[in-house]
Amino acid sequence: MKVTRRRKKFNKKKGLVLFFIGLFFLIIMFLSIKDFFEKNNQNQLEKSTFLNESDQIKQTIALIKPEMLKNNEKNEKVVGADPEFVKKYGADVFEISKKLEQQDYSPIDGKRIAFLTFDDGPSKYTEDILKILKQRDVPATFFLVGNQITEYEDKVQKIYENGSALGNHTCSHNFSKLFKNKSPNLEVFKKEIVDTNNLIKKALKNDNFTTNVFRMPGGSKSWRNTSDVFDYLKEIKMASIDWNALNSDAEGRYKNSNELFERFKASVGDKEMVVSLMHEKPSTLESLPKVLDFLLEKGFTFKILI
Ligand SMILES: [Zn+2]
Repeated sequence: MKVTRRRKKFNKKKGLVLFFIGLFFLIIMFLSIKDFFEKNNQNQLEKSTFLNESDQIKQTIALIKPEMLKNNEKNEKVVGADPEFVKKYGADVFEISKKLEQQDYSPIDGKRIAFLTFDDGPSKYTEDILKILKQRDVPATFFLVGNQITEYEDKVQKIYENGSALGNHTCSHNFSKLFKNKSPNLEVFKKEIVDTNNLIKKALKNDNFTTNVFRMPGGSKSWRNTSDVFDYLKEIKMASIDWNALNSDAEGRYKNSNELFERFKASVGDKEMVVSLMHEKPSTLESLPKVLDFLLEKGFTFKILI
C-alpha cells in the first residue's frame, strides 16, 4: 500500500512536470506562429502600398498629354524653339546681332537669309500668322510681351509647335514704366525680363525652356544709357537684337496692307540679310502672303534667331 501510494504520488508529480513542459512548448509555438502571421501580413501591406503607388504613377502618366511629354521627355534644356526646328533653321542671335550692329547685310554662307520677327504678341492674330507661315513652310521669331502671354497663353505653344522661335520683349512694354528721361530703369528691366521668361516656360509647361533672344521695346536705338541693361543681358546670356527692315505698321498714321507691302519692299532694298520688324496687326496679317512671296521670289531662305 505504501509503495503504491508513493508511486501514485510520484506519477502525479511527473504528470505535472510533463504538463508544464508541454504547456511551455505550446506557448512558444503559439508565439512563433503569431509572429510569422504578423510579419507576413506586414509584407502584404507593404506590397499593396507599392502597388497603389505604381497605379498612381500610371494614372499620372495617362493624364500627361503627348505634347507635354515631347517637351520634357529627355529633361534637356530647350533653347529658343523646338530642338528639331533649331537644328533646321536656327541661327546664333549673338552673331546676327553683331552683324546688324556693323551694318553688314551681306549673305550668310553665300545665301540670302531673312529673319521674320513679329512683336508685341501673342494676340488673337497669332494663329492666322502661323497659318500663313505654315502654308509656305517658313518659320519666324516672335517677340512676346509677358502681359500678352497671360491673356493668350495657349498661343505660345502654337508658336512652338509651328517651329518658330520665342523671344523676350519685356512684361509690360510700358515706356513710362521701363524708361525715365529716355534711359532704362535697370531694376524694372531685370524683373520684367525674368518674369517674361518664366511666363513662357509656364505657357509651354516646360521648365527646361530658355531663350537667348531679347528685343528692347521701341528698339535699342530709341534710348540713351542702355549699357547697364546690355551688361545684365550679357550676364544672363541673352542678346538684344534690333532690325534692318520694316513695314512701318507701328509708325505714324494707319496704313493699309498695300501701303505696308510697298514700305516693306523699299525697306528691304538690296539687303541680302534681312531682320524684318512687323507687329501682330490685322493689316500686317493681310499683307503677309505678299511679303513672304516677295522674299521667296528674291531667293531668300528663312531662319530663326536662337
Ligand atoms: Zn514692341
